[in-house]
Amino acid sequence: MSSRALEQYIENMKQKHENTTYEVVKSDEQWRESLTAEEYRVLRRAGTERAFTGRYHDSKDDGVYVCAGCGNPLFDSQSKFDSGSGWPSYVEPIAANAVEEREDRSLFFVRTEVRCRRCGGHLGHVFTDGPEPTGLRYCMNSAAMSFSGRGANA
Ligand code: FE
Repeated sequence: MSSRALEQYIENMKQKHENTTYEVVKSDEQWRESLTAEEYRVLRRAGTERAFTGRYHDSKDDGVYVCAGCGNPLFDSQSKFDSGSGWPSYVEPIAANAVEEREDRSLFFVRTEVRCRRCGGHLGHVFTDGPEPTGLRYCMNSAAMSFSGRGANA
């Protein structure tokens, strides 16, 4: 995909999710009570964990990463790659409707924020410098996710 096509793809995703309502809705108080301090800071306050400090950036285990806030499946380990960034990175979400993408102008350049489609929790950002086949790099926070190994219950 050309970088123009990628930008168009992300633009379409953003427009699609402009008027989102979430299936899982909790008050700020309820989120504070149900999450750890670090999960709350990332998921509900759009915080970013320090590079190389999260539990998943280096993981190569086979399984599925789910939202730490609501359990929504987000990324399959088969789409994970070693970006060297210090954050767990994926070429695509597990399903098109697993996440939503929004424009983020909180820094001096525009980024594309990635949120859980089910609870609206902040997960990280997506960049267009990823490897084939998508050219996308979903740069996530470990603290926003829980890992569920395949065959863990087999
Ligand atoms: Fe969620």
